[in-house]
Amino acid sequence: MRRPLVAGNWKMNGTRASVAELIQSLRQQALPEGVEVAVFPSFLHIPQVMAELDGDSIAVGVQDCASQTGFGALTGEVSVSQVAEFGCQWVLVGHSERRLVLGESDELVARKFVAAREAGLKPMLCVGERLEEREAGETLSVVERQLEAVLDLAGIAGFEEAVVAYEPVWAIGSGLTATPEQAQEVHAAIRGRLSREDAEIAAGVRILYGGSVKPENAQELFGMADIDGGLIGGASLKANDFGAICRAAGN
Ligand code: PEP
Repeated sequence: MRRPLVAGNWKMNGTRASVAELIQSLRQQALPEGVEVAVFPSFLHIPQVMAELDGDSIAVGVQDCASQTGFGALTGEVSVSQVAEFGCQWVLVGHSERRLVLGESDELVARKFVAAREAGLKPMLCVGERLEEREAGETLSVVERQLEAVLDLAGIAGFEEAVVAYEPVWAIGSGLTATPEQAQEVHAAIRGRLSREDAEIAAGVRILYGGSVKPENAQELFGMADIDGGLIGGASLKANDFGAICRAAGN
């Protein structure tokens, strides 16, 4: 039985005051026991978020990490060792904004995934196709290529403590959402690809959907067989909406 997971990617948003307000409102939400909840604030807000969550069951992750473990001369990067020391559990790797705006390759994403695993962190690997790729009928081959790079470097064992987030690029922040059937097709293909390596690990891997998830569409998406929760951008900045999405995952 896979435990549903809902994660909020706060991206490059927030001030000390707005983060404090968001945490306070999140803590007032009735979050279902059976659903794991995580938030991904900016690096600067991590200590504040950890302190203000004050032992709450909401886990904290970071939105990126360096591709090498340990410490060293790498100006501007944040090491997985530092992330682990701060008590974070999760690392987002391969978000489409990093792949497409910042030019991260499949190979670099795979190295970050491995670094996160080596530091005992849980990677949340984002994969997804661009609109042109979907229109050209390349959705499954793009997602498989992104997955393959990680399988090559981390092996299927790397997925034991990882989560995959399918996020069609055309649905991110656009208000467009994949239909539950479109999403399910890709989720099943991801699980199928992992299953070719190890059926047991594949059956346990949680595959989240991300892309304009809102309280109004969450229930229908989360009702699909291979959708185990969501990675939420915009709606995660509104405590009431995020709470409602978490509750939908618990139904
Ligand atoms: C995201 O950026 O991971 C995301 C899913 O964003 P949104 O929910 O705003 O589409």
